[in-house]
Amino acid sequence: IFDKFKEPSLAYLDSAATTQKPQQVIDAITNFYSSEYSNIHRGAYRLSSNATDNYEAVRFKVKDLINSESHKNIIFTRGATEAINLVANSFENYFEEGDVILISTLEHHSNIVPWQLLAERKKLKIKFIDIDENAELILSDYEKKLQKFQPKLVAITYISNAFGTITPIKDIINKAHRSNAVVLVDIAQAVAHKKIDVQEMGVDFAVFSGHKLYGPTGVGVLYAKKQHLDLMQPFMGGGDMISYVGKEGSQWAEIPAKFEAGTPPIAEVIGLGAAIDFVNNIGFENIREVETNLIKDGLSFLSEYKEVTIYGPKDLSNRGSVISFNFSGVHPHDLATIADSFNVQIRAGFHCAMPALHAINLSATARISFGVYSLKQDLIQLGQALNKARSLFHP
Ligand code: PLP
Repeated sequence: IFDKFKEPSLAYLDSAATTQKPQQVIDAITNFYSSEYSNIHRGAYRLSSNATDNYEAVRFKVKDLINSESHKNIIFTRGATEAINLVANSFENYFEEGDVILISTLEHHSNIVPWQLLAERKKLKIKFIDIDENAELILSDYEKKLQKFQPKLVAITYISNAFGTITPIKDIINKAHRSNAVVLVDIAQAVAHKKIDVQEMGVDFAVFSGHKLYGPTGVGVLYAKKQHLDLMQPFMGGGDMISYVGKEGSQWAEIPAKFEAGTPPIAEVIGLGAAIDFVNNIGFENIREVETNLIKDGLSFLSEYKEVTIYGPKDLSNRGSVISFNFSGVHPHDLATIADSFNVQIRAGFHCAMPALHAINLSATARISFGVYSLKQDLIQLGQALNKARSLFHP
C-alpha cells in the first residue's frame, strides 16, 4: 500500500512522530491539485463549489471518526499544536487572574507551552500531575491537586508520545467535571490507534494532527463542545471568518467558519479525508490487533538485550504503540545513527516532552513506534543494529 515498501529494506519505526502515507492519500491530494483545484467558500463556479463540497465532506468524516455530536463542533487547524493554541487564546475570557490550569507531567510541549503563555498573559498558575517511575499518572496526586487547586482546566494527553502511556482518560475527565473543571484531551497519539468517542468521553476539547493519522502535514482538528465554542473569541482574523466587515468593525461568521480565517489547507483536508477512509477500511480492531502484537514482540525482543532498559507502563493494556528505551553506554543519538546505517529509522532525544523525561531522571531515550504497516521484520532489522552497538560499545 505504501511507497516506502518500494525500498523493501527500510524499517520505519517512527510512526509516533509522523506516519507514512498510503497511496490513496497521495492520490487524493494529487488528484485535487491536478484536476479539481480551486479555492473554496467563494466561487460561484463549478470547480469552487466542488472543492467546497469535498472540503466540507471531510468535516463530516471527522465528526464520524471521533463521534462528535455535530460537524459544527469540528474546526480545521494546521495541526494539534495550533488547535491547543487556538483554545489557549480564544478561550482566555473563561479564566480570571489566579485561576489554575492543571497539566500532566506526561505532556508534549505543545500541551504545556501554550498554557504557560496564557498563564503569563492572564496571571494564571500552572500545576502538574506527577507521574511514577513507569511514566504512569499518579491518580492520588491528581485527586489531591484537583481538590487543593480547584483548577479551571485540566489539559492531558490520552497517549504519551514519549512513553506510550495510555492514561485512564474517562476517569480523569469524570473527576475533573465533578470538580467543575473543563478538560482538553490531546488525542494526537491515540487517533490512529484507537476508536475515539468524544461524546462517550464527555471531553470538552480534543485535538489531533492529520499527519499522525496517515494524512498530510499542515492539517489538524479541534473538537470543542458547542457551549465552549459559543463563548470563544475568534483566534485569527481575516477572510472567511466574518459575516460583515465595515470600517467601524466586523461581525463574525457562524461556527465553525468563525475559527477558520483565511484560505484553509484545502488539499490537506481532502488528504485527511482519504486517510480517514483508509483507517476505517482497515478497522480499529484490526489496527489495535496488529499493533498490540508488535508491541508484545518489541518488548520481548528488546528485553533479550541485557544492555536495554525499557521505560513506560509494564501492563500492556496501558501502553500505546510506542516503546522508549536506552542501551547502556550508548547515547540514544548514537544508537539512532547506528540503526540508520542498517536502514532502521528510530527516534532519539527528549521527544518534545522534557518534563516527562526529567521526572524519571532521563534526558533522552531511543524510541520505536509502530503504525499499521509496521512489520516484525522491522524489529529483526533493529536487532542487527543493537548487535552492532553491542559489539562497538561492549566488545
Ligand atoms: N501531542 C502529542 C502527544 C504529540 O505526539 C504531538 C507531536 O508529536 C503533538 C501533540 C503535536 O503535534 P503537531 O506537531 O503535529 O502539532
